Amino acid sequence: MAYVDQEVRRLMGKAIHRYGLIEDGDRIVVAVSGGKDSMLLLWLLRERLRRIPIKYELLAVHVDPGFEAESADRLEEFFKREGFSHAILRTDHGLKAHGPENRENPCFLCSRLRRTALFKKAQELGCRKVALGHNQDDFNETFFINICYAAQVAGILPRQEFFGGEVTVIRPLALVPAEKVERLCGRLGLPVVPTCCPSVHLNRRREIRDLLNNLYRNNRKVRGNIFHAMSHVNLEYLPPPLDSRDARSKSGQAANRNAKGREDHEPETEHLPH
Ligand code: SF4
Repeated sequence: MAYVDQEVRRLMGKAIHRYGLIEDGDRIVVAVSGGKDSMLLLWLLRERLRRIPIKYELLAVHVDPGFEAESADRLEEFFKREGFSHAILRTDHGLKAHGPENRENPCFLCSRLRRTALFKKAQELGCRKVALGHNQDDFNETFFINICYAAQVAGILPRQEFFGGEVTVIRPLALVPAEKVERLCGRLGLPVVPTCCPSVHLNRRREIRDLLNNLYRNNRKVRGNIFHAMSHVNLEYLPPPLDSRDARSKSGQAANRNAKGREDHEPETEHLPH
């Protein structure tokens, strides 16, 4: 087994243990977009069942954003061929997000609609956990997107409960760098079904990704340092809020509304990976 095979499995296992992501008897919806992250996540979560003493069930769910039917068809073929329990939700979320009625960022609306559809399906299927394929680079990017465009320090979590614990989102690839996901996906020969969305190369995430990739190239410790910095916040060395509106951020409310000189955006916490 090549180094990358072992390393990705080790990092995923470490995240599952460290953040308490999976328990015996869980029924887990795995959100599969067709991108390399979610394809690998689905594959490794099933493979892991052969090596560990606990049991859990996996259900692959693809929310088709509606750009073209062929992508969903290809995924469905893959699920059937490999024997995954699955559901395909055909929607017009991507089209709506790019329609004239939407005044928000297309990705923001699209991700929110997709997430709602996923949660609803998970509840219908009796699954209390939804596994998303965010990798370590996605965590870092979201952190920087929120600093740059929502004027607040916020990110995504390896484990996050919604509706009082009715649904728990888990991100087992939280410690795995994107390039390792890509390499292992290639080694395993997993099919990747790219999205035809017109925004996929134009969004803010892409802009921040390019910036961070430059830093990663110059110093290989930067990726891990940014990730660890999110859990080592030294508040004594951060300035206090400028006004009372900023102080609200302490209680979890958006600090950015109407604040002079800043853009008025919600923090990006709902992005779903491709
Ligand atoms: S890039 Fe992804 S999240 Fe953004 S609008 Fe397109 S399909 Fe939706």
